[in-house]
Amino acid sequence: MRSLSHPLVTGGAGFIGSTLCRLLLQHPDVEKLTIVDKLTYAGSKDNLPVDPRIDFHHIDIVSKACLNLVFNQTHPTCVFNLAAESHVDRSIEKPEDFINTNIVGTENLLEICRHKNVPMIQISTDEVYGSIEAPGIFTEESPLAPSSPYSASKASGDLLSLAAHTTYQQDVVITRCSNNYGSHQYPEKLIPLLIQKAIQELPLPLYGDGQQVRDWIHVEDHCSALIATALKAPAGTVLNIGANKEIANQEIAERVLDILGKPRELISYTDDRPGHDRRYALDASKARELLGWQPIHDFDTSFAAVVKEIESKLA
Ligand code: NAD
Repeated sequence: MRSLSHPLVTGGAGFIGSTLCRLLLQHPDVEKLTIVDKLTYAGSKDNLPVDPRIDFHHIDIVSKACLNLVFNQTHPTCVFNLAAESHVDRSIEKPEDFINTNIVGTENLLEICRHKNVPMIQISTDEVYGSIEAPGIFTEESPLAPSSPYSASKASGDLLSLAAHTTYQQDVVITRCSNNYGSHQYPEKLIPLLIQKAIQELPLPLYGDGQQVRDWIHVEDHCSALIATALKAPAGTVLNIGANKEIANQEIAERVLDILGKPRELISYTDDRPGHDRRYALDASKARELLGWQPIHDFDTSFAAVVKEIESKLA
C-alpha cells in the first residue's frame, strides 16, 4: 500500500502538475507536498496555491545531483513525474530539450526512486500510440508508434519505466492520458491559443483541414485518476486515462467562437504539421474498473466555463 502522506510532484508549476498539487492538498492523507520544477516558459509558481505544506524546489530533473539533494532533504513517500517538455511543435523545431527532460530526467528519477525504494507514477500520454483510424481505439496493449520527437521521448520514458519494473521489480506505474483542457495551460496549446486569438478577433489558425480528432478530458478528472492510481494500481501497471470525448479541432475552434460570441469566419487554415497524427481515441475501461474511478466533468458545461475563465484572465 503506497502512502500519500508526502508526495513529491515534478513539473508541479505546469498545467497538469499544478492541478494535481491543488487536488493533493485537498486529500486528507497529504501532510506535506514537495514540488520540483525547473520553471521553464511553461511553468509558473503563480499556478500554485499558497499553502504551508508546500516545499518548492527550483530544480532541473536532468541534474541527478540536485535531485538527490532534494530526496535526501525531504524523504517523499511517492513521486508523480509530470516534469516534461510538452509541446509537439517545439519538439519538431528542437528535439534536444525533449530528449534531456523526458528521457534523461525520467531515468534519473527512476534511479533515485529505486535506490530510495520510493514508488513512482510516470505520467505519459496517448500520443505514444500514434494515430488510429475510426472506429479503432487504443488499449494498453496497442503498440507504441510515436510520430513526433515529443511522443517518441515520452514513449522512451514509458519503456524505461517498464524496464525498471521488469528488471528491478521497481514500484512504477505508467498512466497515458488523452488531451486535457482546463485552467493554467500555457497559451501556445490549442485551446488557450484559440481563445487568445478570438478575443483579439485575429484568425484562429488550424493545421491542415482542421479535421484532426482529439479525445478530451478535464484536467481535474485526469488528476483524480492519478491520485487513485497512486493508491490502488499494482506495480508495473499501465493505465489509459480518458473520458471518451472525441472532437475535431475545427469543432473546438467553432465552440470557442460561439461561446465568446465571435464569427466563425475567423477560422483559418495553415499548412499541416509534419507527421501530424490524424486521430487519437482511448479505451480507459481498465482504469475505470481497477481504480473505481470515473470522470465527473460534463464536457459541454465545463468547456464553456474554462473558455470563459481563460477569457476573463486574458482580458
Ligand atoms: P506543461 O508544459 O504545462 O508543464 C510542464 C512542467 O514541467 C512545467 O512547469 C515546466 O517548468 C516543468 N519542467 C520542464 N522541464 C523540466 C525539467 N527538466 N526539470 C523540472 N521541471 C521541468 O505540461 P503539462 O501539459 O502540464 O503536462 C504534464 C505531463 O502530462 C507531461 O508529461 C505530458 O506529457 C503529460 N500529458 C499532458 C497532456 C496534455 O493535454 N497537456 C495529456 C496527456 C499527458
